Amino acid sequence: MADQTKFLLTEDDIPTAWYNIQADLPFELPPVLHPGTKQPVGPDDLAPLFPMALILQEVSRERWVEIPSPVREVYKLWRPTPLYRAHRLEKALQTPAKIFYKYEGVSPAGSHKPNTAVAQAFYNKEAGTKRITTETGAGQWGSALALACQLFGIELKVYMVKVSYEQKPYRRALMETWGAQVVPSPSEDTQAGRAILAKDPNNTGSLGIAISEAVEDAVTNPTPTKYALGSVLNHVLMHQSVIGLEAKRQLEMAGVYPDILVGCIGGGSNFAGFTYPFIGDKLTGRAPNLRVVAVEPAAAPSLTRGIYAYDYGDTSMMTPLLKMYTLGHSFIPAPIHAGGLRYHGMASSVCELYRHGVIEARAVQQRATFEAGVMFARTEGILPAPEAAHAIRATIDEAIRCREEGVSRVIAFNLCGHGHFDLSAYERYLAGKIEDYELPQSEIERAQAELPVVA
Ligand SMILES: *Cc1c(COP(=O)(O)O)cnc(C)c1O
Repeated sequence: MADQTKFLLTEDDIPTAWYNIQADLPFELPPVLHPGTKQPVGPDDLAPLFPMALILQEVSRERWVEIPSPVREVYKLWRPTPLYRAHRLEKALQTPAKIFYKYEGVSPAGSHKPNTAVAQAFYNKEAGTKRITTETGAGQWGSALALACQLFGIELKVYMVKVSYEQKPYRRALMETWGAQVVPSPSEDTQAGRAILAKDPNNTGSLGIAISEAVEDAVTNPTPTKYALGSVLNHVLMHQSVIGLEAKRQLEMAGVYPDILVGCIGGGSNFAGFTYPFIGDKLTGRAPNLRVVAVEPAAAPSLTRGIYAYDYGDTSMMTPLLKMYTLGHSFIPAPIHAGGLRYHGMASSVCELYRHGVIEARAVQQRATFEAGVMFARTEGILPAPEAAHAIRATIDEAIRCREEGVSRVIAFNLCGHGHFDLSAYERYLAGKIEDYELPQSEIERAQAELPVVA
């Protein structure tokens, strides 16, 4: 069917196993180090924070990890997600390229994040966890986990960066509707929060502070409490592989194999989830010419301008050390509107694939990104999350290149979320108030001067 628009699978087609790229990597992932001893962490070091099933998934080399049936049952609420052919965008661009997008915005929380939140809630439930703590910035991860904890009967406390708590009341209301307790961070509920408030009562918070609070709460609360993270870690990326596994079958239905895959990167999870099942083909020689493009904001350019080094995952230097392309844990991102992409570091496997030349990276500016997001909304109808608009920008640029070169290529990108909670950002863009931001090299150097010393 030449003009088919949606490629749909049935509930029976929901993948039965996650794909673990660690089985196919031609190199080792660098070990995660203990923040105190700077020695590789073992499962026991992580046990206070995560259930053992997730810790084992973190280091698993099994290619396929079975998806428990209670998780697949919840996935049925929105999975399989649709794959679209972007006929109208192609036409507007007058490109010979064939553009496809996988739409993860159909989940109840409006993004890909419930794919891992549901899995994490399930394994915690199995392990007897009664309560989970987490941090959230703009509220995307907090809302996904609130949904998942509600469905599995686990209490959730979300430390929400205070400035977002005050400026984004709708995400907070969504989390509370799903039964989570949400407090502005820094809060009076933890040592870490009280110490900061004592020095600076008007502190507006940061993700790093919120992580410190959530971790302290998890390890000190008398109720069996664990901590959950929405990106960066291997098990999170693996849970997201349902996106790419479905997309692969849907592109087969469309009779194509992609030439170019595109995804935006904050911590790397939606990008990995979408692309790794295809990168597995590339690594094993079945798709040698596949190009894979990771897109980041010019305001937080971890891959394109970061340094490859061990660094903390958070600003407060509490988490284990990860080897990654980092802007430095003390890097303070500009207040750009793609809140999910303002992270200083990047998932280890994404970094290694980049370092070994398997994937490419590009940084894009905020205005060009919103321009692409608006063009997409006006042609395809769906209002993309500002994060997803980064992938759209790069996709459009590749499609224009196809036009200029007179070549038809198949380009597929991950539309990782809708932008219904980001309308104030669109309002600002339409009013001409969004600005580009070029990160000064001196700022990167300042933050990188504070990298931990690892022998
Ligand atoms: C959280 C989020 C991101 C960034 O996180 P990744 O782990 O890189 O995927 C991107 N897009 C949306 C819609 C998000 O909610």
